[in-house]
Amino acid sequence: MLPGPDRILTCPHCGTEKRVMTLMSGNTLRSTLWSDQKAVYPMLPMVSPVQQCYHCKGYFLLSEQKEDRLEETNEWGFPCGSSFELGELDYNQLKEAWNYFEENRKLTRDNRKTMLHMLLWAFNDTYTRGENAVGIPEDDQAFFAYIAQEMINLTNDPVFKGELLRELGHFEQAIELLNNITYAHTDVIIVDEDLPCDQTTEEVIYVDEDLSSDQEQNLREIVKKILQHAENGDKRPFIVNKD
Ligand SMILES: [Zn+2]
Repeated sequence: MLPGPDRILTCPHCGTEKRVMTLMSGNTLRSTLWSDQKAVYPMLPMVSPVQQCYHCKGYFLLSEQKEDRLEETNEWGFPCGSSFELGELDYNQLKEAWNYFEENRKLTRDNRKTMLHMLLWAFNDTYTRGENAVGIPEDDQAFFAYIAQEMINLTNDPVFKGELLRELGHFEQAIELLNNITYAHTDVIIVDEDLPCDQTTEEVIYVDEDLSSDQEQNLREIVKKILQHAENGDKRPFIVNKD
């Protein structure tokens, strides 16, 4: 893993600058893939798509930075990338960011999905992942039900839908959906991800995709594992693949 020059972000609320890491090179060694689609790559650290300003504590999106500024020298003028800052947010900060965006503006479909994914992973990290399983406060359980349902509405991936239904404890629905997936030929509806999320008419750009036999085999394995967990009445995410 080789860090690159620092990326300089500008807070859209107050103009304060924030340095974050870039990578010249990295790799996916020692990766772990979870059933909730969280992927952990120790040798490929990624800057959080949602950032919080140090100064005004406002939240902003990486994808909405007006310019892409890189600096070869650090704050003291030395010629190296000095920042290892990823700007990762914990579950409570993400909830705060979500509420801020919900109250103040419409996110694009793509950004909304990104935020929902981050919330799902952070919720699972806090309450259900691995040996972590602790009591979940009622408020957070209700919030999880809301974000999982929003994701079910936004995703076109039946396997991920099945996984979300399982994590919600809707085991029978999950089992029915996963048992009825058509593998050889999957209809993929790709919509314009940059449209505001409340757009009801989704423009279908491309429909129709064939899976290779490797992809199909892989997908069948994952579905089998999710089904096993659903049949056992287990809601927790589990490791799908470890490198
Ligand atoms: Zn700020």
